[in-house]
Amino acid sequence: MGKFDSKVVIVTGSSSGIGEATAIAFAKEGANVTVTGRNAERLAGVAEKCRKAGAKVLEIVCELTKFESLELVINKTVEAFGALDILVNNAGSGIMGPVEKMELNEYEELMQLDVRAPIFLCKYALPHLRKTKGCIVNVSSSFSTRAYPGMVVYCLTKAAMDHFTRGLASECVADGIRVNTINPGMVVTRFMDPLLSEQDISNFRKDFSATKQPLGAVPKEEIASGILYLCGATSATGTSLVVDGGLGIE
Ligand code: NDP
Repeated sequence: MGKFDSKVVIVTGSSSGIGEATAIAFAKEGANVTVTGRNAERLAGVAEKCRKAGAKVLEIVCELTKFESLELVINKTVEAFGALDILVNNAGSGIMGPVEKMELNEYEELMQLDVRAPIFLCKYALPHLRKTKGCIVNVSSSFSTRAYPGMVVYCLTKAAMDHFTRGLASECVADGIRVNTINPGMVVTRFMDPLLSEQDISNFRKDFSATKQPLGAVPKEEIASGILYLCGATSATGTSLVVDGGLGIE
């Protein structure tokens, strides 16, 4: 028996990184999983790993900055599996650079993906989650409460997620729906690839781990475990689980 036997779970941004680890972890615990991403090949690879773990899997290749994708992800999942128990809003990206150099299109894309998409995925998921007394985990960041030069607007999007989560939790608590965030420190994924050169990424990881995150990079599987913990923890709502490799130690 798995801890999430026959539960229906959506993990957005599950073609790589934290989302991939989370989808596989749910599959190993008996859940049926909707996986999403833009890269069809990588997504098919993750879906295959979930199937091998015993899950029924729905693959949805979509661009989450497109508003119409959001309702579609929820509707297709409910059509395929008949219900929805858990929504993990994980898809996200960042931008690097000072505010002074930020372009409007970069700002809008970031807000659409990191803020608008999770909010409206929640909106469309709520009627279904009400029926199952389900739950939502929003993947925020340990940066949500901190200030980093060059990452100001990314930090803002994650602060917005923390606050949205507390608000939505209070709106939904009477319906038995729980809403939480997980706030990872630095995890080695593809996240930084579009932001920095290979040399920059390698320097950043080394320097960041050594100086700011004393326990080093957080394994993505630990973030996945944290997400599964929040989904199974019947008394946790409106809260943030920080797993940051010691980043928060002052
Ligand atoms: P990855 O880049 O490995 O994964 C990001 C996922 O989001 C991929 O599946 C990607 O799909 C999907 N995605 C990105 N942009 C879009 C888009 N426009 N439309 C649809 N899907 C999209 O990064 P992580 O696993 O690191 O990131 C996952 C979450 O964790 C993010 O919300 C991030 O902010 C957060 N986080 C990451 C940390 C880290 O250090 N890595 C630290 C703290 C938080 P595809 O590649 O197929 O387009």
